[in-house]
Amino acid sequence: MSARIIVTGIAGFIGSHLADRLLDQGHNVVGLDNLLTGSADNIKHLDNQRFKFINHDVTEHISIDGQVDFVLHWASPASPTDYLEWPIPTLKVGALGTHKALGLAKAKGAIFLLASTSEVYGDPLEHPQPESYWGNVNPIGPRGVYDEAKRFAEAITVAYHRYHGVNTKIARIFNTYGPRMRVNDGRAIPTFIAQALAGKDLTVFGNGNQTRSFCFISDLVDGILRLMESNTNDPVNLGNPKEMTINEIAQEIITMTGSRSQIIHQRLPIDDPKVRQPDITKARELLGWTPHVNLHEGLSRTIEYVKQRIA
Ligand code: UDP
Repeated sequence: MSARIIVTGIAGFIGSHLADRLLDQGHNVVGLDNLLTGSADNIKHLDNQRFKFINHDVTEHISIDGQVDFVLHWASPASPTDYLEWPIPTLKVGALGTHKALGLAKAKGAIFLLASTSEVYGDPLEHPQPESYWGNVNPIGPRGVYDEAKRFAEAITVAYHRYHGVNTKIARIFNTYGPRMRVNDGRAIPTFIAQALAGKDLTVFGNGNQTRSFCFISDLVDGILRLMESNTNDPVNLGNPKEMTINEIAQEIITMTGSRSQIIHQRLPIDDPKVRQPDITKARELLGWTPHVNLHEGLSRTIEYVKQRIA
């Protein structure tokens, strides 16, 4: 059945891939974005009668006519360099923007899905991270603007479920990569690919022994679609449990691009998590979801995209 779906942050990396998949499935999509960190380029191909774009800052009241079946709240700066550059917009969209998006879902009787993050676990003291872990976050550190905004977003989402009966879902998204990430968004994978293709040194922060677990975008979108249709209102981790060090991912990118670049080490950002790996037992059991795209395949597709962007 065709649904009418609001996506905030539609012009971002994940928002635009969600739009593609939802339109492919025959749904109607209304996308909102203020283009602070999103890009109109990511949605310019959506020439579809079932798609509408509204340039809007969701920290302000959201006004939508007619029926709405789902509100997918993706709007937020999401890369560490972005939220360092935009600390107050990051706090505002996580707090005020989530409030407005929940208000819309409540008014329309729509299902609400929050894009939360593995950052709610901070620099984790439990490894891998299950949803039951409460996290280790520095509220006044530079990453606090994002981490605490998303923690507040989870709290208000659960409150709207408990006190207003809104059918809410929370996806805790771990590191995700793929085409349409901004080449200069500062995150490890697009940065390393652009550096390797240009023959520049790859800038690994710290000693590079910190770990991350990288999920390809198409797998993540599958998980989100399953979560939308699920019965659960509890947070669910979505990510690829294959964990590696940042040195390993940098080396893999040098190998795959055939680059002669070297790795150089730069200062580790404050509060950079030392480890990160999702425990996806819940996603497996509740959603029947598991990621399928391996690193080699995902990186090849991402390298092709970065090549086109910088050509
Ligand atoms: N990183 C790095 N060099 C870069 C960008 C990132 O070594 O040019 C490191 C960063 O310090 C972190 C990891 O790669 O340990 C992943 O960083 P990213 O910004 O991609 O996302 P995060 O997981 O920190 O949110």
